[in-house]
Amino acid sequence: MRKKIVIGNWKMNKTVSESIRMVTELKNLLSGKQDAEIVVVPPFVSLHPCEIALHESSIMLGAQNVSAFDHGAYTGEVSAAMLLDVQCEYVLVGHSERREIFDESNQTLNQKLKQVLEYEMRPVLCIGESALTRKATKTFDFLQTQLQECLRGFVEDDLDALVIAYEPIWAIGTGDTAEPGQIQEVHQFIRDYLEKQYSKAMANMTPILYGGSVNQGNADVIMKQKDVDGVLVGGASLDAEHFVSIVQHAQ
Ligand code: PEP
Repeated sequence: MRKKIVIGNWKMNKTVSESIRMVTELKNLLSGKQDAEIVVVPPFVSLHPCEIALHESSIMLGAQNVSAFDHGAYTGEVSAAMLLDVQCEYVLVGHSERREIFDESNQTLNQKLKQVLEYEMRPVLCIGESALTRKATKTFDFLQTQLQECLRGFVEDDLDALVIAYEPIWAIGTGDTAEPGQIQEVHQFIRDYLEKQYSKAMANMTPILYGGSVNQGNADVIMKQKDVDGVLVGGASLDAEHFVSIVQHAQ
């Protein structure tokens, strides 16, 4: 059975001292044994302080982004090796804000996936359609192209650590969550795609998360969908009690 995964993406929120306070609070609230994997994703500068604050906790650390390059003269970039060194276990790749605001293409994301996998962290490949694409009934074609181009050149053995997050752009930060039926339909489509391209084993093994205005009120019904293996939470992950209550729905 696939273990549920709950990821809190803080985006560009919380200073270092606020981040330390937040993970300390989460560590206290989630001190018992957890059935789900819990991952917090603070801004880069807070990763090392959070690593220290989370010592002896089962809460894991993730990064919001990674360089497509290994090392060298790339001012402002943060490499996969640097993330691994501060005990990051997960890395978001291709969040829609990175794609839209920072123009990250599927080809760039393919390079980022290579970096994350080479350094043996778990990439969380984010895919999702815009409202316009959905309205034009092009959602499945669009998602298939994102999967094909981002995963180009990988064979099944390369992708043991892959996590996919379905995040419809129209649901991110809008309060406009996708309907449980719409979510299940897309997750099933992604799982079928993995089976067609790779194998049934790979389709069964790969966690597929949902993201888009998840909160303590809707997390339960979303995570009860057959092909939903957890959630990627933005806004509601900034409040410790809200995030913990979402985690409780994953147990
Ligand atoms: C996200 O940032 O990935 C996200 C889903 O945000 P929100 O939960 O705020 O919609």
